[in-house]
Amino acid sequence: MSTPNRTGRFAPSPTGTLHLGNLRTALLAWLYARAQGAELLLRIEDLDRGRVRERFEVEQLADLRAIGVDWDGEPVRQSERTEVYENALRALEEDDALYPCWCTRAEIREASSAPHGPLPEGHYPGTCRRLTAAQRAEREASGRPPALRVDAGAASIAFTDRLHGEQVGVVDDFVVRRNDGAYAYNLAVVVDDGAQAVGEVVRGDDLLDSTPRQLWLARRLGLPDVSFAHVPLVLGGDGARLAKRHGAVTLADRREQGEDAAAVRARLAASVGLCGPDERPSAAELVARFDPRAFAPGPSGPLPGL
Ligand code: GLU
Repeated sequence: MSTPNRTGRFAPSPTGTLHLGNLRTALLAWLYARAQGAELLLRIEDLDRGRVRERFEVEQLADLRAIGVDWDGEPVRQSERTEVYENALRALEEDDALYPCWCTRAEIREASSAPHGPLPEGHYPGTCRRLTAAQRAEREASGRPPALRVDAGAASIAFTDRLHGEQVGVVDDFVVRRNDGAYAYNLAVVVDDGAQAVGEVVRGDDLLDSTPRQLWLARRLGLPDVSFAHVPLVLGGDGARLAKRHGAVTLADRREQGEDAAAVRARLAASVGLCGPDERPSAAELVARFDPRAFAPGPSGPLPGL
């Protein structure tokens, strides 16, 4: 029997400071990889040029290292890989899997506000796929640049998540290149996981819903399936996603409160049952204890005592 590829990755977007939730996800991605003797790669998802700042990248890498998360090789930057994304788009085009979409945000909202056949509410119903030749010519003449969408044919994709079990999702015609020319997250993430030979993705469970799209795209591009573990998010005390307004939520904030990086690591580990509340395990001790088969972190929720 061949050994499964367990190469992992952590893929932060340098658009802000990592908060404790991001750090916990990173720690878990690192633990899954290291406990299985696998590599962990770091990918900087910096395609959103308007929001990316170099200082955030520097700070994010320093914060990861401080809690004991290291990685193999040099970080890969998506902004340096546009040719690879363009090639993937060309392959999809040749495979007849793309079409241009001129819908405005308002039109998309309107069109996707009702369920369409197998597609749940909020999914793009394929308006621009059904344009007549005349309608298409009219839009082309308007000069407004189109986005590019895949023609996914409302495919149903099943997969098994390590933590969420059996999942099935219907894939809508999602965007792979925005109308401002930017390559979409769903395209870049799939192309890069394929190019970096990632075998196991550990990430926040806010991305569970994106997984059928990404698996569909990977298969269409002839890439091997990746396995997934979607880990719970850290929430604020009000049940919303963790954010600055929730108080001292970054490593720098915690340091100001007199909590060092080892204490933050312990807090993160304790919140998912990897150590007791008064323990201070080293990163290596956590690796030795971490059992990917038995890991059951519980649902998303606030960090105790924060
Ligand atoms: N860059 C994404 C984020 O910051 C993560 C993408 C992924 O893990 O697939 O949330």
